[in-house]
Amino acid sequence: MNTMASDALDLDLGLGWRNSFAALGEDFYTRLSPQSLPSPYWVGRSNSLADTLDLDAAWLDSPALLEALSGNLKLAGSAPLASVYSGHQFGSWAGQLGDGRAILLGETRKGLELQLKGAGLTPYSRMGDGRAVLRSSIREFLCSEAMHALGIPTTRALCVTGSDAPIRREQMETAAVVTRVAPSFIRFGHFEHFSYNGQHAQLRQLADYVIDSFYPECRDTDRFAGNPYAALLEAVSERTAEMVAQWQAVGFCHGVMNTDNMSILGLTIDYGPFQFLDAFDPGHICNHSDTQGRYAYNRQPNIAYWNLFCLGQALLPLIEDQELALAALASYKTVFPTALQTRMSAKLGLVGTREADKVLIENLLKLLAADRVDYSIFWRRLSHMAQGAHADTVRDLFLDRPAFDAWMLQYSERTHHDVKGPESDLMLKVNPKFVLRNHLGEQAIRQAKLKDFSGVHHLLALLETPYDEHPGFEAYADFPPDWASSIEISCSS
Ligand code: AMP
Ligand code: MG
Repeated sequence: MNTMASDALDLDLGLGWRNSFAALGEDFYTRLSPQSLPSPYWVGRSNSLADTLDLDAAWLDSPALLEALSGNLKLAGSAPLASVYSGHQFGSWAGQLGDGRAILLGETRKGLELQLKGAGLTPYSRMGDGRAVLRSSIREFLCSEAMHALGIPTTRALCVTGSDAPIRREQMETAAVVTRVAPSFIRFGHFEHFSYNGQHAQLRQLADYVIDSFYPECRDTDRFAGNPYAALLEAVSERTAEMVAQWQAVGFCHGVMNTDNMSILGLTIDYGPFQFLDAFDPGHICNHSDTQGRYAYNRQPNIAYWNLFCLGQALLPLIEDQELALAALASYKTVFPTALQTRMSAKLGLVGTREADKVLIENLLKLLAADRVDYSIFWRRLSHMAQGAHADTVRDLFLDRPAFDAWMLQYSERTHHDVKGPESDLMLKVNPKFVLRNHLGEQAIRQAKLKDFSGVHHLLALLETPYDEHPGFEAYADFPPDWASSIEISCSS
């Protein structure tokens, strides 16, 4: 039989596939195959993720896997599909969206889903071409792995493959595919989709799937009168709060926090016009398409709550009680500030918590903002200062030295007994030396466009261990060059 013959040619990675999302049924997706990408080449690969997947790293040198992850060869046991979701974009209901260029291959026995982003047209592509360009694929690949190494919940990326196939954006560019990996790519927008369409049986099926697979503790809770869907909303609110607190602490701006870009597992997902802050500017807008600043750095915590509120509304047909839904959402408002304070205190090397710490942190952020101090460099230098480096290395970053001296006095009084030995070691483990600044990504992309992928590889190696010193690579931890502020990253990807 034909199918037997073609199955025999499929590439078997020995990952074991179980494809539990596919088992939900065809209301949730459309089955289809990735579109083939001509003459692909490797751009970047993550050996550490291969290891997590139980994939022998040698596969990442194999021409067969290169073809498979570019959509040219089927992986035996995979069941490719594009899922349907809807969502709120920039504050307005956008209706049906869906995986317009991402194709889910399936789920391995380790419970990790593999998805090819940029793998061609799907029924949800709308006006798009189903493709992703090299520059945005490199950014997503590097940032996924960087966030993971920073300890921030995120979808991951196994590799990027590129091709000379031309892709039209503002200019002609070339195509690439990112192999993304996560326990699930389900978004708030999946729930909104079935809720808004009045498909409440499917809504329940989806919620039950998510609870049984990822939040089993929601089944046997005494909270919310034993309502598992309210418990789910609370659990997602808490995970989202923890994730956003980590974004704020490290200075990460997502850029497009639409509800279709919010993971039901509280993972950072859909890396587009993201940015790590250079100079500290609370109102910084990293997305050139975000003219109103809806997704500015300092608005992220409130936007996350707004998005959770949308999720709560979508779950109302299951929760059946508005008061319960509001009570479930309320956890965000306690978990977020606590999580943020914990993170900021750790960055300062504070031991324990004291009421006055909040003011100490707020005053510092005001000073950093007033003088537009480089965010990552400040924290790293402060960590070294706690280990004995001269205070001037930090003081020199500020224009208003008397204001800084006054703050430093407060800080010294607070830490007088604390910041010695292990706590200052801890500061070096929470204040990264290397973050994926825009200009670093840009340099690697420029090289990659000339088929030199060494910049991608070097950057990956630094970002995989961002708290290590990496002697000889100081330039990657330095202030951004002047041209960095002229980089414009938009939704075009
Ligand atoms: P994003 O802003 O990247 O999260 O995408 C929003 C929606 O547009 C999602 O449904 C994407 O799948 C879809 N989309 C984005 N770019 C493309 C493209 N080039 N081709 C098809 N669909 C796309
Ligand atoms: Mg998206």
